[in-house]
Amino acid sequence: AELDTLDIIVLGAILLGTLAYFTKGTYWGVTKDPYANVFANANGAKAGKSRNIVEKMEESGKNCVIFYGSQTGTAEDYASRLAKEGKSRFGLETMVADLEEYDFENLDTFPNDKVAMFILATYGEGEPTDNAVDFYEFVTGEDTAFSESNEPALGNLNYVAFGLGNNTYEHYNSMVRNVDKAFTKFGAHRIGEAGEGDDGAGTMEEDFLAWKEPMWSALADKMGLQEREAVYEPVFGIVDRDNLSAESPEVYLGEPNKMHLEGTAKGPFNAHNPYIAPIVESRELFSVKDRNCLHVEVDISASNLSYQTGDHIAIWPTNAGDEVDRFLDILGLKEKRHNVISVKALEPTAKVPFPTPTTYDAIVRYHMEICAPVSRQFVSTLAAFAPNEEAKAEMVKLGSDKDYFHEKTIPQLFNIAGLLAQVSNGEKWTSIPFSAVIEGLNKLQPRYYSISSSSLVQPKKISITAVVENQMVPGREEPFRGVATNYLLALKQKQNGDPNPEAFGKTYELLGPRNKYDGIHVPVHVRHSNFKLPSDPSKPVIMIGPGTGVAPFRGFVQERAKQAQNGAPVGKTLLFFGCRKPEEDFMYEKEWEEYKEALGDKFELVTAFSRQTKKKVYVQHRLQEYGKEVNELLSQKGFFYVCGDAANMAREVNAVLAKIISTERGVTEAKGEDIVKSMRSSNQYQEDVW
Ligand code: FAD
Repeated sequence: AELDTLDIIVLGAILLGTLAYFTKGTYWGVTKDPYANVFANANGAKAGKSRNIVEKMEESGKNCVIFYGSQTGTAEDYASRLAKEGKSRFGLETMVADLEEYDFENLDTFPNDKVAMFILATYGEGEPTDNAVDFYEFVTGEDTAFSESNEPALGNLNYVAFGLGNNTYEHYNSMVRNVDKAFTKFGAHRIGEAGEGDDGAGTMEEDFLAWKEPMWSALADKMGLQEREAVYEPVFGIVDRDNLSAESPEVYLGEPNKMHLEGTAKGPFNAHNPYIAPIVESRELFSVKDRNCLHVEVDISASNLSYQTGDHIAIWPTNAGDEVDRFLDILGLKEKRHNVISVKALEPTAKVPFPTPTTYDAIVRYHMEICAPVSRQFVSTLAAFAPNEEAKAEMVKLGSDKDYFHEKTIPQLFNIAGLLAQVSNGEKWTSIPFSAVIEGLNKLQPRYYSISSSSLVQPKKISITAVVENQMVPGREEPFRGVATNYLLALKQKQNGDPNPEAFGKTYELLGPRNKYDGIHVPVHVRHSNFKLPSDPSKPVIMIGPGTGVAPFRGFVQERAKQAQNGAPVGKTLLFFGCRKPEEDFMYEKEWEEYKEALGDKFELVTAFSRQTKKKVYVQHRLQEYGKEVNELLSQKGFFYVCGDAANMAREVNAVLAKIISTERGVTEAKGEDIVKSMRSSNQYQEDVW
């Protein structure tokens, strides 16, 4: 039956396309590509977007909306998965919605025979994700007023909630907790528990899977839904575009949007529209063979991008050619890789996550997170398309047995292609509908880096300090390699004419779509952060930045050195830096001396080397030794900053500081902790951790 729908749509598209062709587009303002227009209409782009969710659901016959607040794509992915499952298992008419695209004043008119789900990630220090800021402020605001004067205001609203958080942060899952609290206050009815996934414990996916089963039962009870046997139904239709080739100018070969395709890219540059920035300098910061840390500078002078010291820059990576090949190969798509296809959402509220017409190669290389850890739910979905019964049984087992799944995938750091090849012994998986692949994998995400330069010193050049992710995996020939950092490494090797670039690195398509990145360019955008120096340079600062955690502090110290040179009174600038051994990974060793010259005794670098002596010395140990001075600087309204590893270091530093305060001020440890807490709320203590 699914095929029939698809056939009808394709036929319809051809028919309408032909009509458009003969009418020269007068009716629809058609572009060169008749399909593009039909698709745009089917996707509702024409009608002008309504920000009224109640109306939108009514018009499109939906009874379940899944809103997402997502920063890195996981919440968005969970939302899509719930939408699919709600439809296939319970016959719900579901739609996924970006919180940013709707208004919420009329949430009190949300019909009570429908349900709204909220999948909400918490970002950084308990903040909403960028796309959820307005929603969050509205719902939790002090004087929130809905459109009608119902009592209670949200008495009609049935909702479901799941949060994505990280328990290493203080405000763990604060988004979902606060939204849930606000909804409860307004009298809304929650169905099931407000779930919480924990990235810090590495259990996000399992927390999600464990939460959703009881949620579905509760929802089925509430709405009187009957569970049926789930059959796979594609969300997207794939249309072969035999009239086009990869050379056709309207075909996207990895360009992120239409402006980029047409060569008219202009700002604002942001998470939807990167700037293709020239890399003007790149070099290695470590002096060991097996580990790399890159210093990369990008020039933003030809863009309208700007940054402030302490901001983040996003790098839009490309997948390595080796991985793209492996992926296309196991799906049996290698021969077709440059065929042109259009992808169309088969229902009006679904969104195609990349522009089309395009090629399989471009989708996989530029738009899909093909190297990420495998989702157990996706494995379950793919079982139905296994190339033989044995592989199918194994996939079913992997999908349903959590422990077995972890044992088989985690130690190997498998990605999806690796796992499929292992399960089928190399036999190709040619029956997987490409729609399932689009649905099952995340969009390739930009990676964020703490900017390591000062905007006062170099306003038009942004520097990045990134350690290259490479891990040996027992039982695997090739190491595990991180996507973005190996892409940057390859760019650096090319720029420096490295005589022995790594074979893997050579497989990146460094020239970009249609050679648009030639001359060493990388797509970027800037994200503003709250991690900022005190506006008064005479205030002391204490910075804890081991490893690449030192990145923003290089910018901070650079800035204060410049301020001192300009004659400003600069306060004590105390930096704790840690690495393994001074002769291996002591980043910017020479540069610190230059800053010291400018700042004199106002600058002090305290080092901790973890592998130099028998006893491992970490930054928190050195911080403890400096307890008296640190306390004094804080009493002079000094600022305290921590950057780097969220899992262990940041937490330990917090604990050590609480102890220092307790000892130096003669208060209890509990009081010391309270003082640190209040320093955090007043921004005297700032974190930039990941
Ligand atoms: P990815 O491919 O994203 O892999 C990252 C990790 O995910 C791997 O190490 C592994 O643990 C896991 N993983 C990925 N795939 C699999 C798999 N198939 N199976 C199992 N595990 C897997 N980094 C810096 O070096 N310097 C900075 O200044 C810096 N600043 C940051 C600031 C912010 C605000 C944030 C959020 C992050 C920052 N990071 C920084 C981290 C950076 O964004 C990247 O996460 C990091 O560089 C790795 O990216 P990657 O694409 O190379 O690795």
